[in-house]
Amino acid sequence: MTTLKPDAVVVGGGAAGMAAALELEKAGCSCVIVEREEGLGGILMQCAHAGFGLVEFDEELTGPEFAERFAEKVLASKVTVLDGATALELRDEGERKVLDCCSAKRGVVRIEARAVVLAMGCRERNRGNVRIPGSRPAGVYTAGLAQRLVNIEGVVPGRRVVVIGSGDIGLIMARRMSWIGAKVEAVVEILPYPSGLTRNIVQCLEDFGIPLYLGHQTTRIFGKDRVEGVEIAPLENGALDLSRARTIPCDTVLLSVGLVPENELSRGAGVELNPATGGPKVDSTLMTNVPGVFACGNVLHVHDLVDWVAEEARRAGAHAAAWLRGERPGPELRVKAGANVRYVAPVKVDLSRKNRVYFRSLAVLHGATLEARIDRRVVRKIRKGHVQPSEMQSIELGPEDFADLAEAGSDAVLEIALV
Ligand SMILES: Cc1cc2nc3c(=O)[nH]c(=O)nc-3n(C[C@H](O)[C@H](O)[C@H](O)COP(=O)(O)OP(=O)(O)OC[C@H]3O[C@@H](n4cnc5c(N)ncnc54)[C@H](O)[C@@H]3O)c2cc1C
Repeated sequence: MTTLKPDAVVVGGGAAGMAAALELEKAGCSCVIVEREEGLGGILMQCAHAGFGLVEFDEELTGPEFAERFAEKVLASKVTVLDGATALELRDEGERKVLDCCSAKRGVVRIEARAVVLAMGCRERNRGNVRIPGSRPAGVYTAGLAQRLVNIEGVVPGRRVVVIGSGDIGLIMARRMSWIGAKVEAVVEILPYPSGLTRNIVQCLEDFGIPLYLGHQTTRIFGKDRVEGVEIAPLENGALDLSRARTIPCDTVLLSVGLVPENELSRGAGVELNPATGGPKVDSTLMTNVPGVFACGNVLHVHDLVDWVAEEARRAGAHAAAWLRGERPGPELRVKAGANVRYVAPVKVDLSRKNRVYFRSLAVLHGATLEARIDRRVVRKIRKGHVQPSEMQSIELGPEDFADLAEAGSDAVLEIALV
C-alpha cells in the first residue's frame, strides 16, 4: 500500500475538482486529485455539444474544450493527479482525514490530508427511481449513458426514440439522436413546464420539430426482448386521465428524470446532507459539518452551467487553503429558503465579507421579485421577472446588507424568497 501525505486531497477530477485544486496550489498547498476515470474532465468529456464557458471564457466551447483548458493548467502545475483511482472510504480522524483509494495501476493508495474537497459530481436517476410500470425489455437507458455510448463509445443505442423527462441531458440527447439519424418521436414531461433550460427547448426540440408533451405521465413501457412502445396519459389537476392515454411506438427509451449528488463517501465520513439538494450542508466557506471537509460543484447541488461550478469550486479551494493556514470564518448568519424557493446553498453567510448564495425556484413564476429578508425585514429586493426551477439563480450579499443586524434577534435568519 502506498501512502501520500499532501496538505489537501480533492475527490473528483471534473470541472469542480480541477478548479478547486488549482486554487489550493496557487495558495501554496500541496494537493492530490483522485479521479476514478482515466484522465481529467468528468462529465464534460461526453458533452460534445457547444454551450460551455460563455461566462468563464466569454466563448462558446464544447465540454471537452472547456475541460482541456483546466486540465492543461492542472497538468502543468504541482498538483498530483491520481486518475484511474476510486476513493472508497473517507474517515475523519480529527486533524487528519484519511482517504482510502483503489486503483488498477497503483493498488491501494491511502491519502492522509488535513483538508478534503468533495467534488464527486452527481449521477442520474433511473427507471427504478421513478417507478415506471411495464415489462423489462432491453432498450431503456438513462440519457447520460446514451450520451456516453454515442459520443465516446461510438455506439448507436436505437433508431426510434422516446425521451422521458425534459431535463437538459434528455433534451441534448433528443437532438444528438436526431443528428445520428434516429427518429425522436417525443419528449414526455410529467410537470406542466419543462425541466431543462429554455435555450435547450428551442435549440434541441423546436429546431428539430420534436414534440414535447408537458403534463403527461408515462404509464407503461411495452416490449418483450426489446422496447416496442410507451404509453402516456395526460394529468388533469394532478389526476391521470387514462381515457386519453396513447401509445407511442419506439425501440428505445431515454430517461432524463433528474440527477442526484453522489454522496456515499461523504455520508460515510459523517457529513450531514441537505434533504432539499441531496448535497452536504455547507457554511459560508463551503465547509461541511466535518471540519476541514469542503464541497463544491454537482456533489453540493446540481448546477445547470459549468461556469457556476468553476466559480463555486474556486471559492471552495481558496477557503480550504485558508483553513489550512488556520483562518476561520467570521460571525455567520443562517440562510434558509423562503417562499417559492426550493433550496439555498450555502446555508450560512459570513457577515464580514461578500457571499454568493445559489438557489432555485419551486415553480415557474412570472413577474417575480427576489427578496432577501432578515427576520421579515427586507434587506435587498431585485426584480427577476420570469423564473423557472431549471434555471439556477444566485444573489451576492455583503456587509452592507447586514448593517442593521443588531436590530434583529440573536437567532436571526436570512431568508431568500421569491414573491
Ligand atoms: C449532458 C449534460 C449537458 C450539459 N450541458 C451544459 C452546457 O451546455 N453548458 C454548461 O455550462 N453546462 C452544461 N452541463 C453542466 C456541467 O457540465 C456540469 O455541471 C459540470 O461539468 C459538473 O462538474 P463537476 O466537477 O461538479 O462534476 P463531474 O464532471 O461529474 O465530475 C465529478 C468527477 O468525480 C469523479 N468521481 C466520483 N466519485 C468518485 C470516487 N469515489 N472516486 C474518484 N472519483 C470519483 C467522477 O468520475 C467525475 O469525473 C451539462 C451537463 C450534462 C451532464
